[in-house]
Amino acid sequence: MNIHGFYKTMCQNEHVSPIPLKFGNVGKGGACLIYNAKTFEPLSIKIDKNRLDDIAYGLYHEFAHQICLIKYKYAGHGVKFRKIFNYINEKNKIIDRKQVFTIK
Ligand SMILES: [Zn+2]
Repeated sequence: MNIHGFYKTMCQNEHVSPIPLKFGNVGKGGACLIYNAKTFEPLSIKIDKNRLDDIAYGLYHEFAHQICLIKYKYAGHGVKFRKIFNYINEKNKIIDRKQVFTIK
């Protein structure tokens, strides 16, 4: 499965505009979301495929941040975030979590 196509489909399902998915070194956590600290606008998601053994989990986590920023202008890991993450994770759990995405 192509990760870009999968991400786009998730965005369509949640009525959210996709932001660029980038790949490279991230360090701690293995994935991050870049956003505008003033407007809270999500800008891009960066994934370190060498550090994440579960890329789907990393993508769901950052996608949950994206939705949380749009909805609440909130970038933390509190209740609002966890609710969205659980919803996304539950909704997409049919996907084999250890499945290796095609990253191109
Ligand atoms: Zn996070």
